[in-house]
Amino acid sequence: MEQNERIRCLIIGSGPAGYTAAIYASRANLSPVLYEGMQPGGQLTTTSEVENFPGYPEGISGMDMMEDLKKQAARFGADIRRGIATAADFSTHPYRITIEGEKVVEADTVIISTGASAKYLGLPDEAKYAGLGVSACATCDGFFYRKKIVAVVGGGDTACEEAEYLSHLASKVYLIVRKNYLRASNIMQKRVFDNPNIEILFETQTEGLFGENGVEGAHLVKGKGTDHEERYDLPIDGFFLAIGHKPNTDIFKGSIELDENGYIVTRPYTTETNVPGVFAAGDVADPRYRQAITAAASGCKAAIDAERYLVNNNL
Ligand SMILES: Cc1cc2nc3c(=O)[nH]c(=O)nc-3n(C[C@H](O)[C@H](O)[C@H](O)COP(=O)(O)OP(=O)(O)OC[C@H]3O[C@@H](n4cnc5c(N)ncnc54)[C@H](O)[C@@H]3O)c2cc1C
Repeated sequence: MEQNERIRCLIIGSGPAGYTAAIYASRANLSPVLYEGMQPGGQLTTTSEVENFPGYPEGISGMDMMEDLKKQAARFGADIRRGIATAADFSTHPYRITIEGEKVVEADTVIISTGASAKYLGLPDEAKYAGLGVSACATCDGFFYRKKIVAVVGGGDTACEEAEYLSHLASKVYLIVRKNYLRASNIMQKRVFDNPNIEILFETQTEGLFGENGVEGAHLVKGKGTDHEERYDLPIDGFFLAIGHKPNTDIFKGSIELDENGYIVTRPYTTETNVPGVFAAGDVADPRYRQAITAAASGCKAAIDAERYLVNNNL
């Protein structure tokens, strides 16, 4: 009978958090094994230019940056493998993680860095104009829309924050809200209502986008299904989604503490989860910042936390 493989430090995910954890863990002699998952390199492989990651004064393509991080992790001996984790059992130690429904690896420590995915409306045009005017991150892409006209979709706190952030860069920001009210907290509502650069389009939905080589406008409908239904085209240069993110934590449900939105809960100032020896890094545990640099930083912290756990438990 085939023996399960025993690993000291298992890293799940190959975004900035996972690779940074792998760099630190391999340099600390933890012989980490990293499974890349369905999106080797993570979210940044879907963007053309990253301009805010320190150390690249001219900017760098997301693909090249993640290739650099992978090489750096491999240089110190991290064992980087293709494969998706499909189940996790944290009920007994060593922890048992199933890969692709078949192979089971036993791990003394696990670093979960499976990221989060932005939610989209589901319009074909969102994919068509990805990187050509459609974005789910104002902090990442707002700079490209200085003095331009943008729209933000959503009515919650995040949408208001994104609209507020963009209002300091863009010449005009439309906030497209499906309902006839904002779900955001009172303070955020006040900020957008008081901001002369933000115009709220209530009861409005997006039906599509148009433009030759990038977004030039959105097809909107106001009061859909009512007797005052009205369709019109709104000229815009950028279309920002702010309708939430979905952390990739489905396989951990029931075995680790998650918050009400599915993010892994970590102990303040650490990457520790409620399961000793299981750590979480990057967007999967971060509903707030969701940046490459913050993900990388928490990957570093997770590797240090894993190393201390192994030492403290004589593993
Ligand atoms: C289009 C776009 C542009 C962006 N631009 C910028 C920018 O300019 N600057 C910036 O700082 N941030 C930017 N971001 C945000 C940034 O990409 C994220 O904050 C960052 O990638 C999060 O890193 P992470 O390691 O937590 O997760 P991710 O990059 O999301 O990586 C998650 C990894 O987990 C893997 N995974 C998931 N589930 C499993 C599983 N079950 N088993 C194994 N592996 C699994 C995936 O394959 C992937 O490799 C951008 C995001 C997008 C989508």
